[in-house]
Amino acid sequence: MRTYLGMPLSPRGVGHLRGDEPFPAAARRALADSQLRRNLGHATATIRAKSAAVISELPDWEELRAAGSAIKADAMARLPELLEQLEAAVTGAGGRVRWARDAAEANRIVTDLVRATGSQRVIKVKSMATQEIGLNEALAAAGIEPVETDLAELIVQLAGDRPSHILVPAIHRNRAEIREIFRRRMPDVDPDLTDDPAVLAAAARRHLRRAFLTTRVAVSGANFAVAETGTLAVVESEGNGRMCLTLPETLITVMGVEKVVPTWRDLEVFLQLLPRSSTGERMNPYTSMWTGVVPGDGPKDVHLVLVDNGRTAVLADSVGRQALHCIRCSACLNVCPVYERTGGHAYGSVYPGPIGAVLSPQLTGVADNASLPYASSLCGACFDACPVRIDIPAILVELRARYVEQRGAPGPEAAVMAAAAYAMNHPRLFGLAQRAGRLGVRALRAVPPLRAWTRSRDLPDPPSETFHRWWRRTRGGGA
Ligand code: SF4
Repeated sequence: MRTYLGMPLSPRGVGHLRGDEPFPAAARRALADSQLRRNLGHATATIRAKSAAVISELPDWEELRAAGSAIKADAMARLPELLEQLEAAVTGAGGRVRWARDAAEANRIVTDLVRATGSQRVIKVKSMATQEIGLNEALAAAGIEPVETDLAELIVQLAGDRPSHILVPAIHRNRAEIREIFRRRMPDVDPDLTDDPAVLAAAARRHLRRAFLTTRVAVSGANFAVAETGTLAVVESEGNGRMCLTLPETLITVMGVEKVVPTWRDLEVFLQLLPRSSTGERMNPYTSMWTGVVPGDGPKDVHLVLVDNGRTAVLADSVGRQALHCIRCSACLNVCPVYERTGGHAYGSVYPGPIGAVLSPQLTGVADNASLPYASSLCGACFDACPVRIDIPAILVELRARYVEQRGAPGPEAAVMAAAAYAMNHPRLFGLAQRAGRLGVRALRAVPPLRAWTRSRDLPDPPSETFHRWWRRTRGGGA
């Protein structure tokens, strides 16, 4: 068995990580939807402006980013040790820890835990990890009803839709569409419901309140887990998470193994970085933390399911492992010109946008999401926005190279590269090619069908003199 730092490497991930259709085809369809583009453009511009304003208040933002990056790098380098420390701390505080190698095992564990309580319904805090493993579908197949309690997740669930943004899963819907979804799918809703946001929120609150007060089991994800204390943390904006984490008798948290941080003090850094980069707030309205079981206060049974699902394979990758530093703030989505035009569904994976383009192919293997590393203009805006300084463009380039190595370059590109290699090995031919190149540039500028190519691209003039000529002229010898 392959191991990394003494820990067995997991098989590649499964669950909802593979796209049904290549990105280019899905993106083309999304681009034709002008309503979608309006919704996305408005929402991402609003979040970007809010985020920029609160980030500019912090004079030490760059130092915070560097600290976040360093803490994550340290945590990934000591992951097996930290996870064992976390397990011991959670267990010592009265919680129970399970380990899941992949999505199927995680779903089995959670389903069995819910069945053991006798409950046929769970309330859920918004969680990317449970989306990744397809937990809702697994629970439904076992006769257990999962109820999403985050407003945007509820909209997506009622519509039978898929989330399209990490933080704002219904970003592709406007309020008129949401009113229609509520009117069609929400039991007991007022048929005269308006699309006023406050009215829609009140309808959702009434609907969810019934579920909060009658459900004995909750499932959550975790934004962070502190190894030294066994504390789990969830940050959110609506208070639905706080209800799920405190009211039920049983709480099951499903968490990717990369969410562990070494110490309580480390939260100081991430709880500044995350809200400013994600919702554009100075701090999250609700920050819930719990450590095992406290008699008479909150759930009596607390479980933590640690999910690998391809992560240890990513960890063993010297370039790609940075993707595990992600704190799911979604800043890279909000600044990405590709995401802003195509939306999240085109990525075909639970993780959309720039982080999805690097994380999903790594979790499943590049061949399973081959088009995603190309879903980027490599403009670098994602790196500038990332609060933990993940160099997404560098990983994209690496994944593209890996894909080409695995599959070979496409026919025309391979032919051009072979011709270039041959010319470079034959100096006379290379000299001729350089002269032809100068003529080619003139043709690209002058001939109408070719001119279209340069309309949106810079085409610099080739140097007037080749390096060989310059060498001969200035040094008087052969180069
Ligand atoms: S890659 Fe960086 S910017 Fe994108 S979601 Fe993750 S932490 Fe946020």
